[in-house]
Amino acid sequence: APMTFTAVNPATGKAVASYEETSPAAVRQAVEQAHEASLQWRRRDIAERAKSMRTAGRLLRERSNRYGRLMAEEMGKPIKQGVAEAQKCADGCDFFAENAASFLAPEIIDTGAAKSFVTFQPLGVILAIMPWNFPFWQVFRFAAPALMAGNAGVMKHSSNVPGCALAIEEVFREAGFPEHLFRTLLIGSGSVDDLIANPLVRAVTLTGSGPAGRAVARKAGEMLKKTVLELGGSDAYLVLDDADVSFAAKASAEGRLVNSGQSCIAAKRFIVVDSLHSSFEDAFVEEMRAAKMGDPLSEDTTVGPLARHDLREALHRQVETSLAKGARCLLGGKIPDGPGAFYPPTVLTDVRPGMPAYDEEMFGPVAAIIPVGDEKTAIDVANDSAFGLGGGIFTRDIDRGERLAVEAVEAGSVFVNRTVQSHPKLPFGGVKESGYGRELSHYGIKEFVNIKTVVVS
Ligand code: NDP
Repeated sequence: APMTFTAVNPATGKAVASYEETSPAAVRQAVEQAHEASLQWRRRDIAERAKSMRTAGRLLRERSNRYGRLMAEEMGKPIKQGVAEAQKCADGCDFFAENAASFLAPEIIDTGAAKSFVTFQPLGVILAIMPWNFPFWQVFRFAAPALMAGNAGVMKHSSNVPGCALAIEEVFREAGFPEHLFRTLLIGSGSVDDLIANPLVRAVTLTGSGPAGRAVARKAGEMLKKTVLELGGSDAYLVLDDADVSFAAKASAEGRLVNSGQSCIAAKRFIVVDSLHSSFEDAFVEEMRAAKMGDPLSEDTTVGPLARHDLREALHRQVETSLAKGARCLLGGKIPDGPGAFYPPTVLTDVRPGMPAYDEEMFGPVAAIIPVGDEKTAIDVANDSAFGLGGGIFTRDIDRGERLAVEAVEAGSVFVNRTVQSHPKLPFGGVKESGYGRELSHYGIKEFVNIKTVVVS
């Protein structure tokens, strides 16, 4: 019997809507249709592709309230953040509409031949496996550059956000892209291997957990298909001895609580030198305490519920295990009464190796403070992680901050005196178990193209 996908509102525990699974035959047909659509799409010049992409941006802006509400209902994102997310997607569409032509312009290279150059050609149908945490942005971050480069997309979104998945397909359909160029497939993760094996699927991108990334990379490796993986992170924020403590505390809390703590580039570990330890703890706890947890549909909510009840249980287990191993809880740490997958802003301190709060990704509003003696130990602890996505440094000495960002921190991006954020102009991605490949900027648009060399003698 076909599976159904039921979106459950995590603020109430009540079902929002149900959708039927896309059948295996319909999946095969969608891939074929996307492939056919890509053949006409790749022949359109970039200026024409840009028109459709700008229309997608306009639709996202016009509908940002509706889509923000959909995100709130399906995965609990506070409405203000969801509306902003839809608008950020629109900006991403505009950015690649504007810049794809220059990013993909042929490069003439003097080799002594009569003519030699590099040209960037689309690959065809790209499979995208996407997570629920930024249910619109993660998708547009892939799709805006990939489609501008002339590719088609088929998407398997997280099972808990089927309405968002269909809304994204609707944006592309209504923006005037060729019919079937971007398709949403409502399928479980068990159907992904067959899709990767489909000869019309040329490459795969996944944003999500390490286990999902490994499973997809394994199959793609077997089929010799390129992958881009954007996996988890446990970003370390270093609070050095000359940091502005109240600023660092504010920026740290903001970085930890983004999307109710459920972001790969959320600040997760706070590595604080001893001289500032107690003043940082006090200021940071106050910032975390000030966050307003509540109904995601209310405008002044800053922390909503977690996206699913099972995710809350997993997070709480990580907290309890860390406490059992000697961490101390300065704030939160208890599951509140009532319906909804709410988890309060929580601060753990004296976090050490061997504790989940030190070793694992904590995907929720739980901060881990790790006290250290000096700058060198701070760097060692920051890098003592399986992950390498983002990182932050707080210091009043800008040169020192920049030097450590460049030379010391093992991560795909490091921000000095600022919370880590993605920006369409800047490449985004990780090292180590945070994945490989880059999204956004001219690096991102070149992930899914044939970088073709042509030499004419
Ligand atoms: P997953 O990584 O399991 O989900 C991400 C996407 O991958 C979903 O579309 C999921 O589909 C799919 N997927 C999962 N397993 C496989 C597989 N074996 N083969 C193919 N596709 C697969 O995240 P969860 O929702 O389970 O969240 C668990 C944890 O993952 C979080 O607590 C967090 O630590 C991390 N995470 C990290 C994210 C990031 O931005 N880096 C985003 C989301 C989660 P389906 O929903 O059908 O299982």
